Amino acid sequence: MPFYPAPVRDVQPAAGPGVVACRCCPVGVSRSRRARGYPSDMSEAEWAVCEPLLPTPAWRAGRGGRPASWCMRDVADAIRYLTHSGPVWRALPADFPPAGTVYWWLDRWQADGSAERMHGDLRERIRLAAGRTSAPR
Ligand SMILES: [Zn+2]
Repeated sequence: MPFYPAPVRDVQPAAGPGVVACRCCPVGVSRSRRARGYPSDMSEAEWAVCEPLLPTPAWRAGRGGRPASWCMRDVADAIRYLTHSGPVWRALPADFPPAGTVYWWLDRWQADGSAERMHGDLRERIRLAAGRTSAPR
């Protein structure tokens, strides 16, 4: 069972093993090539729930720029690794994006409210999956 249970209707089916939709990547499919072995790594179903909660990349929205060098799935997995294993930024394993890149994206997602929205959405999904109301009364 995924850590963040999602209603089946919200999960995009994978086009194949390791093939997941991703708006940050040029062809719309995650270009991450990391072997996912850490307990904190997201499954394809978890990424399918979390990816739409991140802001649309500027280049994809027609506001200029270019695709980021790293897939946001790798950045999100790095943040989860740090929160799961302890925030030793300089000890971030080499298969993740550089710690400075991960920190830059975390800071941006906190500043633009994406982290808060993701937390709220996932909390609501967990509460509903547990048969509770979407928010505490
Ligand atoms: Zn991507």
